[in-house]
Amino acid sequence: MQQIVAQNAIRHLSTKELRKLLHRYRVTDGKGFQLKDHDPTDTAGHLIDKHHAAALLAGGVEHLSTLQEKLYAQDRWAVLCVFQAMDAAGKDGTIKHVLSGVNPQGVHVTSFKAPSVEEMRHDFLWRAIRALPERGKIGIFNRSHYEEALVVRVHPDLLEKQHLPHELVTRKIWDKRLTAIVGFEHYLAQQGTVILKFFLNLSKEEQKRRFLERLDEPNKNWKFSPADLTERSYWDEYQRAYEAAIAATAAPHAPWFVVPADNKWVTRLVVVAAIIDALDRLDLKPQALTATELANLDEARQALETEDC
Ligand code: ATP
Ligand code: MG
Repeated sequence: MQQIVAQNAIRHLSTKELRKLLHRYRVTDGKGFQLKDHDPTDTAGHLIDKHHAAALLAGGVEHLSTLQEKLYAQDRWAVLCVFQAMDAAGKDGTIKHVLSGVNPQGVHVTSFKAPSVEEMRHDFLWRAIRALPERGKIGIFNRSHYEEALVVRVHPDLLEKQHLPHELVTRKIWDKRLTAIVGFEHYLAQQGTVILKFFLNLSKEEQKRRFLERLDEPNKNWKFSPADLTERSYWDEYQRAYEAAIAATAAPHAPWFVVPADNKWVTRLVVVAAIIDALDRLDLKPQALTATELANLDEARQALETEDC
């Protein structure tokens, strides 16, 4: 019984607590950024008590749902949340839990896999642009345009399939892609898209533990792909590529959150807190109706009131 009560309990972080928590993980200036300064096992020190995590997540999910309704009603801003991580860092689970209370009509999740032939016949931002959220909506990128400076950087032979003109494929291509992303995100921010980027920072040890669990537990076997092990063997190359990408693209209007991913309860709380904080800052109010629209409502009321039934 006690357990049921605890599960149903809902608690909210105050704005002050929320901001203190996010300050720990938010990167808005890439100067001097190093992944080694970010601990995947971090549990937010004294800021969160693990025993309250479930209640705080429930409170966050509820709060997010209210804010999303206002975002939709106001219909001015769009929100884009980018999720990047090594395999088994918990992207899917985080997205599922954090958005569990949100009206599905207000959210659109896009998973970016290896690009199709059609996608590769276009510039690298093409498929990301097609998936951008419209005003009033939250767009979730499960992997994103960043893969073009991550997996492709780690495996440069993938560039060959992209059929780029040879003279454009130089050693500077990664810096140029990151600069293009900076411009793209700046443009989106100026058009009313709030951008939040999450790097779920998993340790190599924890990834091993989660892979073994996927192999050992029959109901988790489907989550394992032999390719995951190949990518794991490039761990250091990926860490360097992530570090370069975050350093080049962190900005106040497009912050990165380097979220500890070894403990799922921390990951989920930080992500929900970041989205709540960003929406809270927008001062969301439903659009005021014009005089004509108000007159139409009056007319509709009168029509209903004078109906026979
Ligand atoms: P999960 O494993 O949890 O299902 P996932 O995001 O790892 O999620 P997968 O289908 O396993 O999904 O992998 C997608 C793969 O597509 C990743 O290895 C990723 O690096 C790759 N990918 C994504 N974008 C690109 C890209 N632009 N070029 C090449 N490969 C890409
Ligand atoms: Mg995978």
